[in-house]
Amino acid sequence: MSAADAVVKPDFAARRRHFIFTDEHEALRESIRAFVIKELAPHAEEWEETTFPDWVFKRMGELGLLGLDKPEEYGGQGGDYYSSLVLAEEMVHSRSGGLAMGVAVQTDMALPPILAFGTEEQKREWAVPAIAGEAILCLGITEPDAGSDVAGIKTRAVRDGDEYVINGSKTYITNGHRAHAIVLVTKTDPEAGYDGFTLFLVPMDAPGVVREKKLEKLGMHASDTALLAFQDVRVPASAVLGQVGKGFYHIMWELQGERLIGAAGCVAGAQRVFEQTLQYATERTAFGRQIGTFQVNRHKFAEMATKIEAARQLVYTTAWRFQNGEYPVREISMAKLYAARVAVEVADECIQLHGGAGYMKEYGGERVWRDMRLNRIGAGTDEIMLDVIGRSYGL
Ligand SMILES: Cc1cc2nc3c(=O)[nH]c(=O)nc-3n(C[C@H](O)[C@H](O)[C@H](O)COP(=O)(O)OP(=O)(O)OC[C@H]3O[C@@H](n4cnc5c(N)ncnc54)[C@H](O)[C@@H]3O)c2cc1C
Repeated sequence: MSAADAVVKPDFAARRRHFIFTDEHEALRESIRAFVIKELAPHAEEWEETTFPDWVFKRMGELGLLGLDKPEEYGGQGGDYYSSLVLAEEMVHSRSGGLAMGVAVQTDMALPPILAFGTEEQKREWAVPAIAGEAILCLGITEPDAGSDVAGIKTRAVRDGDEYVINGSKTYITNGHRAHAIVLVTKTDPEAGYDGFTLFLVPMDAPGVVREKKLEKLGMHASDTALLAFQDVRVPASAVLGQVGKGFYHIMWELQGERLIGAAGCVAGAQRVFEQTLQYATERTAFGRQIGTFQVNRHKFAEMATKIEAARQLVYTTAWRFQNGEYPVREISMAKLYAARVAVEVADECIQLHGGAGYMKEYGGERVWRDMRLNRIGAGTDEIMLDVIGRSYGL
């Protein structure tokens, strides 16, 4: 058949696998989705009330899901960065943003700096049990008086012989109540500007660590969020994570992976609520028609789908660059900004498309909106992302 005779029709049902993913990634995706739907999703409503239980870490550790992209010598699966993206994407099927966030704190916030900058001892003591799901980790950057302005933190670590004495407080710390250890950002030399920060790996049962308050939130109810105090906490010098004085750069590196994983979760969350709403729009009728067939609503779906696809491409292309050794801070900031905005817009539009049902807990849309809303704030606000992008052009 010549090209001129060929009839080419659009195949909207075609598999849409992106080139960064292999058959192995897709097999992983299927097995994670099956696990999440079978073992986690049924508890979504209960965990909104109680926060998710610690056994989730243990179970995910047993299944190898907390170390997909972590080195095998520490109990990980030795996979690439894309395998972690797959996990973030599939966790949306738990229908619990708080659960997905609690797990991501372990896999993509606290573990990476330990593995990247930690000593062999620190990796054995904390990374190995964290990958196995036997130890739970949290990450402490934000303080009551400094969030976006990381350089403005006040938590101090002062050298005293072979030890450091830590004083200060951290707030909005995910997993802060349940964690066994915290990756803690401190100032060791207030005169040294960006070279005056140091990370520590602090056991949460060290004397002087106080889990002050469980914080109530708009969404992400299944996660635990803590206000923590550090009162004359003494740690050995071996608790320093990475280089003394280089903590600011270490944590800025950590934030890149965290933001990209967060962006992937946003895209997957938006896709999920889009699909649910599409289904609803074919079932619900008004004025004798499926509501999705009103042109105004059809165009809403078209707008949403286009934005989700654009966000997805930005995330995947940036992940490809990250995986291949680049440090694409500008694009990661763009991906995080755009994906978070799209997720919130889509969740909001999906509530609208459900009418009154969208406002009801039963349909789940309101929870998606509440959970997603965090993404425009956490891990760097929209405004901070815009500032990073703008400054990257020398402005
Ligand atoms: C549910 C939840 C979980 C979290 N988990 C963690 C965690 O596990 N660990 C952790 O360390 N932190 C965590 N955070 C903290 C989160 O990263 C911060 O809240 C966020 O970075 C913003 O900091 P802030 O709250 O101090 O806001 P602020 O910095 O006080 O900002 C207030 C407003 O001012 C704007 N603003 C600030 N500076 C600028 C600027 N230069 N230009 C323009 N606008 C600006 C901000 O965009 C924002 O709109 C969590 C937060 C929440 C809500």
